[in-house]
Amino acid sequence: MSSRPFNFSAGPAALPEAVLQQVAGEMLDWHGSGMSVMEMSHRGREFTEIAETAERDLRELLQVPSHFRILFMQGGGLAENAIVPMNLAGRQGLGKVDAVVSGSWSKKSAQEARRYADVQIAADSGPGGYRSLPSPSSWQLRRDAAYVHICSNETIDGLEFHELPDLLALGSEAPLVVDCSSHVLSRTIDWSRVGLAFAGAQKNIGPAGLTLVFVREDLLGHAMAICPSAFDYKTVAEANSMYNTPPTFGIYVAGLVFQWLKAFRHGEQSGVAAIEQRNIEKAALLYAALDASSVFETRVAAECRSRMNVPFYLRGAYDTPQLNESFLNGAKARNLLQLKGHKSVGGMRASIYNAMPLEGVQALVAYLKDFEAQYG
Ligand code: PMP
Repeated sequence: MSSRPFNFSAGPAALPEAVLQQVAGEMLDWHGSGMSVMEMSHRGREFTEIAETAERDLRELLQVPSHFRILFMQGGGLAENAIVPMNLAGRQGLGKVDAVVSGSWSKKSAQEARRYADVQIAADSGPGGYRSLPSPSSWQLRRDAAYVHICSNETIDGLEFHELPDLLALGSEAPLVVDCSSHVLSRTIDWSRVGLAFAGAQKNIGPAGLTLVFVREDLLGHAMAICPSAFDYKTVAEANSMYNTPPTFGIYVAGLVFQWLKAFRHGEQSGVAAIEQRNIEKAALLYAALDASSVFETRVAAECRSRMNVPFYLRGAYDTPQLNESFLNGAKARNLLQLKGHKSVGGMRASIYNAMPLEGVQALVAYLKDFEAQYG
């Protein structure tokens, strides 16, 4: 067992220790090449092998169908908020985007898309304080929208779609665009419901700087004239993500995380099915402790609580700046790091991504109980 602290950061977030150790071991000389991965040409034999293996493993882990392309890009989630409309909004000259606002990140996506498209808010759970997801049957969808955008896991507000919406059943033929930055690879994905999915790497995958894009092939080739070539999905796909220099070190580390995940076992299961099972157990343990507490509370409706990001707060009279501070200082003293909530909502947040072991959640739950015994 490691002596490293448990790191609950929302991102950049903890990576599997075995991966960090492998990266450290290979830092000066990757597989006898005499080079660090950082020092290799992205077009050389060594890096081509690293990138191809990473893509193959990712496709296998998430069972990505062959009519989807996987792109390794740069720019992160916020850049995709512009890159997606620049590529998709102009399909068939429609320029219409329907956006579901279910938290801070999908709200940002809708705002950015307005610069490139006619955006309609299909549903907005903001007036209720983002405590539940707007039910798909209530969404206002336009028949001629170029796409419908959702964020399938709201990192700040702690809400997760446990099932992707079936747009066809809702009367829309538009492709679904999914920002899955903060729960990609934590669970399986139903690709039959997806047109495009994107994710920044810095939560469940690897270092910041790498963005994954999964795009259905028929959605390539519709970029607006103003779209930078390096962000035109068709250009990137045709060059196998090597149109410009990709974030090579990030792809290498991501590839090691994919191998770690492929080898991950839980009971009879392996890979993403196994990690999903463990994520369900970790989240259940933490939410049960919070629900049983008279000092702490969670505010998200039970059916849409995120398995990855768990915001929690001191209740009522306990919610003072001093007690919040005591909680965080006490956590740090116990080697439980980065539990401070996002500045826009305050309180606390435990991000329990794939790399967080069960022991980390158990240690947090033990601390919640001790804190309650002391102050409750
Ligand atoms: N979308 C989601 C769901 C996120 O959690 C984040 C980052 N926390 C972003 C987008 C923005 O990502 P970036 O900072 O990489 O642009």
